[in-house]
Formats: sequence, C-alpha cells, structure tokens
Amino acid sequence: MSNRSLVVQGGSVSLEARPSLQPVSGQVVVQVSRVGLSHLDAAIGQGRMEFEGVPGQEIVGKVAATDPEDSGWLSRRVVVDPLLACGSCQWCIAGLREHCGQRRIIGREQADGGLAEQVLVPVSSLVPVPDHVDDDSAVFAVPVARAIQASRQVRIEGKTYVTIVGDNALALLTAQVLVRLNASVRVLGVHRELMDRCERWGIRHRHRDEAGHRADQDIVVECTGGQAEVVATLGFVRPRGTIIQMVAPQIVGAGGTLLDLRRLVDGEVRLIGSSFGPVAEAMDLIATDGIDVVSLVGVRRRLEDVPGILGDPQLATGRKVLISP
Ligand SMILES: [Zn+2]
Repeated sequence: MSNRSLVVQGGSVSLEARPSLQPVSGQVVVQVSRVGLSHLDAAIGQGRMEFEGVPGQEIVGKVAATDPEDSGWLSRRVVVDPLLACGSCQWCIAGLREHCGQRRIIGREQADGGLAEQVLVPVSSLVPVPDHVDDDSAVFAVPVARAIQASRQVRIEGKTYVTIVGDNALALLTAQVLVRLNASVRVLGVHRELMDRCERWGIRHRHRDEAGHRADQDIVVECTGGQAEVVATLGFVRPRGTIIQMVAPQIVGAGGTLLDLRRLVDGEVRLIGSSFGPVAEAMDLIATDGIDVVSLVGVRRRLEDVPGILGDPQLATGRKVLISP
C-alpha cells in the first residue's frame, strides 16, 4: 500500500510518496478517509508556525494495522485526538493533560499529522466513531472539542452576554456549544450565508462592521486571530469581563503600536487562551445531534490539491475545507 503524504519542509509544501507505515508497540496505523483543514494548518502553510513534517489535526479513518495485543481496534472507524500526553506527570495526574510536560500534538508538535494516506498514532488517541455518524460529521470532533473546552474556561450562569468574533467553523461551533448553556450569544461575522445558519440555530448575529463598541459583553470569544478582530474584542468586552482567545493572533509589522492593550489593563479584563478539548465528549455531542456540523461542510479537495491551497489566507475562514486522500 502506498502512503502519499503532504510534507512541510524548509518552508515548502509538497506531496511525497512514502513507504507504507508499520505499527510499533502501543501504536496503530490509521488509513485516513477525511481531514478537516484548521487554522493551524493554514498557519503552517503560510509559514507563520514552525513545523516540519505532515500537518493535519482533524483526522477520521479506519484502523488498518495494529500490534497483536491491540487487534480489537482493527478495521474500526475512529477519529484521532491530536493531543498526546504522557499520562503520568503532575499535570496529567491533575486531569490537565493538555498541559502535559511531554505533550506532543499530531500535525503540529513532534508528530506527523493526517494529511496523508496513513498516519501512525497511539492507541490512547483513538476515539471510536458510531456507525450512524458519517466521516463528514465525525471530522468535526476536534473543533467541537475545542468549543467545549472554551465553554469550560468561564462560568456561564444566568444571562451571560457572549459575543463570538468570527464566522468560521470554529466560531459557529463555539456559538452552538455556548447557546446550549443558556448564554445570550451573538455572532459577529462577514459571510451572509453563514449568518443565515445562526438564524436556524436561534443565535443572534450581526455584520462585524455594524456592531457598536459599547464595552458591555461579559465574555468575548475571539475565533479568528486576525489583528482587526483581536483589537475589536477589547471594544466589546465590559470592565472585568473576559476575553477567550481561541486562535493565537500574530501581530506583526515594522514599528508603531500594533496591539494596544490599554483597555485590557484599565478595564481589568481577563484574557484567557483556549486550545484542544475533550474529543470523546465532542463525538457524543455530534452522535446525538446535539450540534449541527453538516451545515459547516465547505469545499472538498483531494490530497494533491493541498500544496496549492495550504498557504491561502482564506483557508480558515467560512466553512470547513475537507480533504479526502
Ligand atoms: Zn503528562
């Protein structure tokens, strides 16, 4: 079997014919059927994030080869939890595996990802996909997990006013998760057709440029990492409110003030980062129709198309781009 893989090396992205992978102890080979492109893949493609290897964190596939002792997984359809933790350090023991001292992240830190025909992953990273959940839905498990993680960074009680900045898949999943907690959620975006989805979910929405900077929101969740959006969050959040940053912003430029955080200081605003979350829980939410992911399926591409699109700044905006090897 072949293993065509998308490889990032020395700033270039190319498709390589690699040998078929063999399972080693505690690991399985997953035959990849679907990968969702994320903002991290886009950042890698644009050279904004240091990484060499195979990107791709949102992976669905079928277990193709295992060690004899893990043969129960053979042929099972799975999603892969991209966050690999040791399970025995103080952070892991405290239930905070995302901060493990020996953390690796599939497709981002010290581990090849799923933009390939095959990927080698630990058995512990496998989350089974129920039969009635198709690959297009299952591939959203990782971003839904991120949305669940964001919802747990803060206490949502009573009528918490929440503004979600962005209308990409991550933003719209986060909006759906937060509205389940009875928060008063509003989405600020630019894509009309995606805003219409919010209508269906009973979530308020406005065009980003029409929202007033009234500094009255309890929580602002920033899902784009864009410079203008990050600055705008400081105008939306109330004094002593909270900003949750889901995508790391990169504020670059020659000279001048690029990001004015005075309002963060004067308003005693809390700024919280939020990253990977509980993938098995996300799969349950998808399997029970607790969240609409189908509406967020965007264009489909083949693996060979990826070198041409990975550096596209539009990649992480709008609906999810799905890759089938
Ligand atoms: Zn650990």
